[in-house]
Order: sequence, then structure tokens, then C-alpha cells
Amino acid sequence: MLYKELAEIYEKLESTSKRLEKTYHISEFLKKIDIQETEKILLLLQGKIYPVWEENEIGVASKLMVKAINQATGISIKEIENEWKKTGDLGDVALNLFKKKKQSSLFKKQLTLSKVFDNLRNVSEFEGKGTVEKKLQLISELLIHASPKEARYIVRTIIGDLRVGIGTGSIRDAIVWAYFEKEFNLNYDSGKIELEEEDRKRYNEFIEKIQHAYDLTNEFAVVIKTIKKKGINGLNDISLEAGRPLNVMLYQKVKDIEEAFEVVGRPAAFEFKYDGFRLQIHKTNNNIILFTRRLENVTIQFPEVVNYVKENVKASSCILDAEAVGYDPKTGKYLPFQSISQRIKRKYEVHNMAKQFPVEINIFDILFYNGKSLLKEPFKKRRQIIEKIVSEKQKKIVLAKQIITDKVEVADKFYKESLAHGEEGVMAKSLDAIYKPGYRIGYGVKIKPVMEPLDLVIIQAEYGEGKRSGWLTSYTLACWNNNKEKLLEIGKVSTGLKELDSEGISFAQITKLLAPLITSSKGKIVKVKPEIVIEVNYEEIQKSVNYNSGYALRFPRFSRLRQEKPVNEINTVEDVKRLYEMQRSRNK
Ligand code: AMP
Repeated sequence: MLYKELAEIYEKLESTSKRLEKTYHISEFLKKIDIQETEKILLLLQGKIYPVWEENEIGVASKLMVKAINQATGISIKEIENEWKKTGDLGDVALNLFKKKKQSSLFKKQLTLSKVFDNLRNVSEFEGKGTVEKKLQLISELLIHASPKEARYIVRTIIGDLRVGIGTGSIRDAIVWAYFEKEFNLNYDSGKIELEEEDRKRYNEFIEKIQHAYDLTNEFAVVIKTIKKKGINGLNDISLEAGRPLNVMLYQKVKDIEEAFEVVGRPAAFEFKYDGFRLQIHKTNNNIILFTRRLENVTIQFPEVVNYVKENVKASSCILDAEAVGYDPKTGKYLPFQSISQRIKRKYEVHNMAKQFPVEINIFDILFYNGKSLLKEPFKKRRQIIEKIVSEKQKKIVLAKQIITDKVEVADKFYKESLAHGEEGVMAKSLDAIYKPGYRIGYGVKIKPVMEPLDLVIIQAEYGEGKRSGWLTSYTLACWNNNKEKLLEIGKVSTGLKELDSEGISFAQITKLLAPLITSSKGKIVKVKPEIVIEVNYEEIQKSVNYNSGYALRFPRFSRLRQEKPVNEINTVEDVKRLYEMQRSRNK
């Protein structure tokens, strides 16, 4: 396939904000793809060159990109930067400058999609001496042959900011539209799809099957290839594999124990809710791989955990769901997530870090055991299996503390015990429920005290004044719209951060995290790639015309970094609305 065809679909997606229209464009595109190229196409379509769980990134900052544009066009760096300041988008800069250049350059050959993909992979694989030059050369090679439109999207893909608004939900739906069009008599003309009730039901079943297969594999290419070879029922054969991460099950929040029983049934299991970060542990004999909730591979960062699992988990293969909790090596006291979060990114001196910031693994679920999926087994059976195969070692590897009860008073007492122990709250889990990857459904719920803080992502930041002038000190925050395809602004936060590193999370630390994510700057304001998720407390949610979410936070205050939380899972405007309404009914 030519890269041109992909550039065209990007452009179509960018030109509309309507979900159905996007789905339609993707489905027309999917009809054309060649099975051999499915992986490459599906990754590029989402602005990526690696599946989510692979550690590699393209690793090219905007500054280097400016240089590559300079090399490919001969236009001065100054002019490129001026243009960048005006538009705020390096992709558009490339589009405009390449249009100007067009007459003078010679387009020798058309870029194929594979050529773009392979060059970008090569760019990501260079490390060490002379790397920058080699990267520049590979990027320039692409840009020299690119049309203005192609240049725009190559640039955006490289800096990791595709800006076409494509969500996994639209790709999932588009798969049904593309490959089962006749099955449902899907006819998209007027911007609406109309289905008879019977068809609608089956259509939803197809969507669910595809979503499930995606949650198990995190790769649309696997899903599409299976459908093409074996039809929709072929998806039933996709199973778990130790080594390939799956999306974790999520938990709804309820207000108290009574509501917990209403959702999960009676009796129910109650467990301490630990304040650490989620770890998905994959074991095949002595090969252990650890993934975070964002499906990042963190095996290297936690060598001691690898050993705990090797020594204390009896299974030829398994996938465990667990929470890693930090503790003070001197006093043994448990610490909030914040204090161990630095370990997630640190890839050197890992043994030292393990001594300074040790973690205890609290196992609370098992999804795969000795070659068989346990997703369809009831929770009580899964718990029995972990009780059987894990030999508990305090401060190393233990099972989540659990009771089973049908009494509110007993559960309440356990909840208080958990809080007194310094935990965040409790989880209540249905004893008979299966494990549904990627879903936030009522198979388990969480109960925490406080007014729910919001998890939001930083999309823009501003440099401070005076002695704070070297730091980004005010952060514009966003939540998702309802279908998670667009980030909506909801306010700015600058309190809650410290000036000194020794006092807690500081402006300098946040500035350091944001610096490599800057995509454009105008005066003191920089736009950043939406990656840094923070938890924000506030006094009240108000309606507002100042932000495109329609809401603003009164007295927002930074409470902690949530590096373990994927951007995909931050709060939506629907959550904000619910909290807004809850607060109104409480104030009445
Ligand atoms: P939240 O991050 O507030 O949405 O709460 C859900 C998270 O709590 C899960 O993703 C786990 O990382 C964590 N957690 C802590 N203890 C447990 C437990 N016993 N069972 C399930 N999840 C737990």
C-alpha cells in the first residue's frame, strides 16, 4: 500500500468530529488493506509503530524534527521555528513549507507505507554514539520523497501527536462495518445507521466479541487477521498467552458497604484496597515478565519481584493480577504510591532502588494457570488457586487480605481496619463473577472515603515569573469527552506543588516530565503531548463557559502524580457531570 492512501484517511478523520463518519471512513479503508500488511497499517493508523506493551518509542523530540525538516527542505531553522510559533503544530509547518518547496524539489518515487514504517522502526532502534545523525538521515530520506500532505503526517507520527482523533472504539466498530457489511445490511448514507431490532442485537454481539478479542490481545491486527481467516467465531479461539499482556478489569466506585452489596451480591469478598500500582505478572516456567496497568514492560525495573515470583509461585505458567506496595525499609511501614513511583521509569541501578524503595506484592487475582484461561471461572475459584500456588512471604509476596461476609457490620469493621492500617479503602468482589478484561463493571467495586478526586491529563503549561521563571508552574488540565476521542479543558492547577524537591512533588520535577513532551510553544505557554496524568482535589465543580468541557474546578489542588494510570482511563466529562450533580443534591 502507498503511504499516500494512509495520509488520505488521516485527512478524512481529521476533517470530522462525528464518530459515525469517522467509523465509516475507517471501515472503507479497512476493506482495502492487504492481509500481509495488517500489523503495520493498524499500528500506523493509530499513530504508532509498536504495540502498546513494547517498550520502544520513536524517540525523536520536536527539536530534532525541526532539524530534519531543515535538512529535507533547505529552509532555515529560524524560518521553521517562526512558522511553528504561528501554527503551533509541526505537522502543519511541514505541510505549508513543503507546499512552498514543491516546484523546486524532485519527487522521484512514491513512498510506500512499508518504507515509512520500516524507517521509523529503524529510527527507534538506534542507540548510542552517532545516533542523532543516523536518525536524521532516515527521517530526511522519508521527507525528501514525501508530498506536503504526507510530510504533515510523517512529522506528526514521529513526534507522537497524530491529532486525527481516532479511538479504539471507532476502529472496533469499523471492523464490523468493513467485514460484515452484508450480514447487517449496513448502509451508511445520511450519517445514520439504521438496524432492525434483531439485527441491532446481533450487531452488538459482534461488537462485544471484537472488543473482547482486543482486550485479550491489544492488537487489532490479530483480531482482523483472525476474522479474515476464520470469520467472527474464529475470535472464540483467541486465548490468553503468558507473555502477552491483557487489559485489566476495572472497578466502579460505590459510596458505602450497603451499596457494595447491592452491586456485587451477598455474601461478597472484601479486600484491603492497597495504595500502590497494579502489576500484571506473567510466568512461563522461570521466565517472568511484569507489566503495569498501562501495559508497559517493567521487568527490568523490579528484579526482586521477578525473584519473589520465581521462588514462591508454583505454576508452569500463569498470569497474576496484583498491587505492588512500597514500604519503608527501616521501619517496615507502608508508604503511599508516590514514594515508589520513581521506580517505574528507572532502568539503571535497579538493585539499589530495590533496596531503597522495596515493594511488597499483594496478589488479588489469577487469569491464566498452567496453560488454561481462568477468565470464565468464578472469582472464588480463582482465589482458591492463588491460595494454593503462592507461598506467602511477608514484605515480599502475599495475598490481598480478604474476608467473606454477608453482614454490613462485619464488612464495615473490616473497612475501618483497612483505613486504620493506612490503606485507601476496600474492594468488594462478587464471588461468582468471571474476569472481564478492560471493563469497569460491577464484578468488583471500590469504597474509598473522601470526595472523589479527578484524574486529569496535562495538555498545556505556562512558565512562571521571577524565581519560578525556569519552571512550568501552571498546568491546563483536560478530561475526555464521552466517547474518549477528544480531550476537553476543565481548568488550570498550580497549587499543591512544592518549590523544593525535598518537600514533595516539585515544579522542577513536573517541568522535567513535561519538557520532552512539548509539541509547540507560544510566548510562555507550551502545548504538551497528553501523557502526564495527575490527581486533582477541588472544593467544588462549577459550570463554566471558559472551558470547552463546560465545567471548571473551584480551588483545584494537585494531590499526586498518577504515572501508573493510562491516559485512556482518566475521568470523562460524564464523570464530572455525575459529581457535579451529586454535589448539588448533597447541598440541597
Ligand atoms: P482506582 O485506581 O482508584 O480506580 O482503584 C482501582 C485500583 O486499585 C486497581 O486498579 C488496583 O491497582 C488497586 N487495588 C488495590 N488493592 C486491590 C485489590 N485488593 N483488588 C483489586 N484492585 C486493587
